[in-house]
Amino acid sequence: MKPDLFQAPDYFQVDDLLTEEHKLVRDSAREWVKKNLSPVIEEYAQKSEFPKFLVKGLAEIGAFGAYIPEEYGGAGMDQISYGLIMQELERGDSGIRSAASVQSSLVMYPIFTYGNETQRKKYLPKLASGEWIGCFGLTEPNHGSNPGGMETKFKDMGDHYLLNGAKMWISNSPIADVAVVWAKNEEGRIHGLLVERGMEGFSTPETHNKWSLRASITGELIFDNVKVPKENLLPNKSGLGAPLGCLDSARYGISWGAIGAAMDCYDTALRYAKERTQFGKPIAQFQLQQKKLAEMITEITKAQIFTWRLGVLKNEGRASSAQISMAKRNNVEMAINIAREARQILGGMGITGDYSIMRHSMNLESVITYEGTHDVHLLITGLDITGLNAFK
Ligand SMILES: Cc1cc2nc3c(=O)[nH]c(=O)nc-3n(C[C@H](O)[C@H](O)[C@H](O)COP(=O)(O)OP(=O)(O)OC[C@H]3O[C@@H](n4cnc5c(N)ncnc54)[C@H](O)[C@@H]3O)c2cc1C
Repeated sequence: MKPDLFQAPDYFQVDDLLTEEHKLVRDSAREWVKKNLSPVIEEYAQKSEFPKFLVKGLAEIGAFGAYIPEEYGGAGMDQISYGLIMQELERGDSGIRSAASVQSSLVMYPIFTYGNETQRKKYLPKLASGEWIGCFGLTEPNHGSNPGGMETKFKDMGDHYLLNGAKMWISNSPIADVAVVWAKNEEGRIHGLLVERGMEGFSTPETHNKWSLRASITGELIFDNVKVPKENLLPNKSGLGAPLGCLDSARYGISWGAIGAAMDCYDTALRYAKERTQFGKPIAQFQLQQKKLAEMITEITKAQIFTWRLGVLKNEGRASSAQISMAKRNNVEMAINIAREARQILGGMGITGDYSIMRHSMNLESVITYEGTHDVHLLITGLDITGLNAFK
């Protein structure tokens, strides 16, 4: 892969909207990506392996639990800092951002928000430091967009719970030390359970042959009469709203992350277009290429401002689930379109691993599907503005 020459586009001086702390956090994540992730990511994506040796460094830049209070090992940052870290990580690779999103928003967030003090003290410091990796099990073989139909269930056996079922498409699962698992009790109510590696009957086979998010490890969670201690139930929230609350936090991070992938594709394509000559001119001088580049920077700029505003609302506790859905949907579509256009600007070189664009493009195929598909987010906006449910 070519050296990382990334220069972040900021056409409307959106930086002026950030505090000094935001910029510090963003710049240290940016430097970390340039120094540690960019030199190795292509190799790991090509061999379809998660670069686990980066976990410690991710913890050091606050990528695990950015907004979790410091007393639990988190970085105690605000939501905009969290978003900026996700943006910078995804500028490097969506798979690495996914690993950090899951750890922060889908594992640490529910333990912090729905767990008790003992659970917080037991798990959060280990997850924040990267000593432990976590995963989040909601999706099942027969229930993706409709998680409320889940079949994974647990029974109260007096001194423990007995858990049975299976989850699939679970990021981090084959290397996870703890899984936040969503399952129904005998009354059909959804609860979160903390299932630890080593519990008898619990296995996490890896999912192979992915053409997308190759540097992120994905797998299943299989529960065959797993005895889960009663103290491992998250006590403070139940029902479908509990996992959906975690998804709000993760989707918010994705909306920032997608901007990072788009910025990297735009920046690469702009540099290439100025350097590559055809018909005696840099290709950047042809109107067709300028149209692509001008539209890219316009879309990135709109997303930067839109998402910064979402961050302000999130900091004030006023961001609604529907607003987060709109941002996730808009920004991921924006990024995937930019990746496809940028790939074309690079011609044949665009399909090689010498440049990051094809990898971003393939990665974004997962990002547009997970954490609620593109269609599902549109239905959420539709429901919010009309009051009419078009899901079923
Ligand atoms: C790489 C990767 C990592 C993932 N990581 C995790 C993870 O860590 N934890 C986790 O729990 N899950 C994870 N997922 C699962 C992901 O969230 C699901 O794939 C996603 O929710 C879609 O579910 P599905 O694949 O079963 O598709 P389906 O729900 O079967 O949807 C198929 C198609 O039907 C459409 N559709 C569905 N319902 C409707 C409707 N009512 N109206 C119109 N169209 C509809 C969808 O938009 C989609 O286009 C991951 C997925 C991938 C690919």
